[in-house]
Amino acid sequence: ERACRIIAHARAEGRDVLTEIEAKEVFAAYNLPVAETRLATSEQEAVRLAHEIGFPVVMKIVSPDIIHKSDAGGVKVNIKDDAGVREAYRTILNNAKSYKPDARIHGIAVQEMAPWGTEVILGSVNDPTFGPTVMFGLGGIFVEVLKDVTFRVAPVSAAQAQRMLDEIRGAPVLAGVRGEGPRDRQALADTICRYATMVLDLADEISESDANPVLVYEVGKGVKVVDARIILK
Ligand code: ADP
Ligand code: MG
Repeated sequence: ERACRIIAHARAEGRDVLTEIEAKEVFAAYNLPVAETRLATSEQEAVRLAHEIGFPVVMKIVSPDIIHKSDAGGVKVNIKDDAGVREAYRTILNNAKSYKPDARIHGIAVQEMAPWGTEVILGSVNDPTFGPTVMFGLGGIFVEVLKDVTFRVAPVSAAQAQRMLDEIRGAPVLAGVRGEGPRDRQALADTICRYATMVLDLADEISESDANPVLVYEVGKGVKVVDARIILK
């Protein structure tokens, strides 16, 4: 179906990296809640897409050769008007070109700016013994410094996903900190299940993937995937 078509298209171009736009389309095919993201190939088009999506927007470089977009100066958030879109378009392209002169550039993604939420990370690897395995952790220092993550072999049931949320040391963060209300654990657990279904279903295609970050909102308000990455086998 849709996911396979996107993967086949990348392979036909000799790529084993999907762009964020492609990865989000694959995620969306499995009903994962991704931030609306569209590809612009000119300043003019970026302005039009920003109006269609609604300000404020986020803009990012779209290149299969730039995996860590922020490192390349390839991400601008909270862009509020036409002039901001035009400026971001030029700046991001220039930054990307000086970061990696030979990078293939598909264009610039214009995305809905998701409201602030608790940042979590989902990841997957295709383990030689266990097959597709899903990782969950809280974003930022929790993953990078504390390695506070937990794993399950796919598929992951709703009950297992709930347990993953409780297993990490940072679990209290999801109950709400600094006067914030409790986070939407139900939606997050659902998202983990669907993500596991995706990586299992596409086990022959996907080598590794991540959703970093996923923003988690208050109970009843769901989650939003704002960055997605898929590496093919
Ligand atoms: P990178 O390739 O560097 O990981 P990301 O797409 O994750 O780039 O963007 C960097 C950061 O910008 C994210 O960690 C998140 O905090 C913020 N961000 C990215 N996209 C959005 C969005 N659509 N809405 C709100 N914040 C976003
Ligand atoms: Mg990211």
